[in-house]
Amino acid sequence: MNQNFKPLQPKVVLGVAAHPDDLDFGASGTLAKFAEQGAAIHYLILTDGSKGTENKTLTPQQLSRIREEEQREAIKAIGGSKAHFLGYPDGYLEVTMDLKKDIVKIIRKVRPDVVITMDPSMLYSASRGFINHPDHRAAGQAALDAVFPLARDHLSFPELYQQGYMPHKTKTVLLTNFDQQNYIVDITNTFDKKIAALKAHQSQVGDIDNIKPWLRENASKIGARGGYELGEGFIRIDLNR
Ligand SMILES: [Zn+2]
Repeated sequence: MNQNFKPLQPKVVLGVAAHPDDLDFGASGTLAKFAEQGAAIHYLILTDGSKGTENKTLTPQQLSRIREEEQREAIKAIGGSKAHFLGYPDGYLEVTMDLKKDIVKIIRKVRPDVVITMDPSMLYSASRGFINHPDHRAAGQAALDAVFPLARDHLSFPELYQQGYMPHKTKTVLLTNFDQQNYIVDITNTFDKKIAALKAHQSQVGDIDNIKPWLRENASKIGARGGYELGEGFIRIDLNR
């Protein structure tokens, strides 16, 4: 499946996601692998994660602080470098020019070779029985728009250029998508780091041992498509302009 692609050796990787835990579910094995190869890994989390609980005793502010801390722990577990939080209200994320500008600012600051985000075209999956969270779609859409053309063109958000945020071309985008992957990353050696990252999101996953068999089975199914024991799958887009 990967034969048409050159292996990725990024120096800087930026993951853009709606909530703490999104990147760790979809891509933390891959991010850990890039970190082991020497890449700096940045997470950009767009919302404050303040709705993700059934615990009625927690205030949204308390939950938000807990989830931010969990995300920092998870990044440590994969050997990542830095977390950036934009703090938009969880559940209400929309594709606005303000959001795109905030993402462009981070892209121009950290200057990633690879951006990982969620495929915004995933609306629902009947076979898997779910509707994709609207925040995930908004995050993916805004991130793609920020990568191209907004971060690339100095006349987009000229005030950023004036503040010293130089235009930046991202080379590769990896989109998490459950059913239409064209690129499988071998995460056999970093699967344990993925588990450690997910374990950090205690408020979301509870006891990691309960979902570990499912995570392994899923990684095994995806990995098989690339000829690996365990894998994560993406739609890979190498940008040529
Ligand atoms: Zn999410």
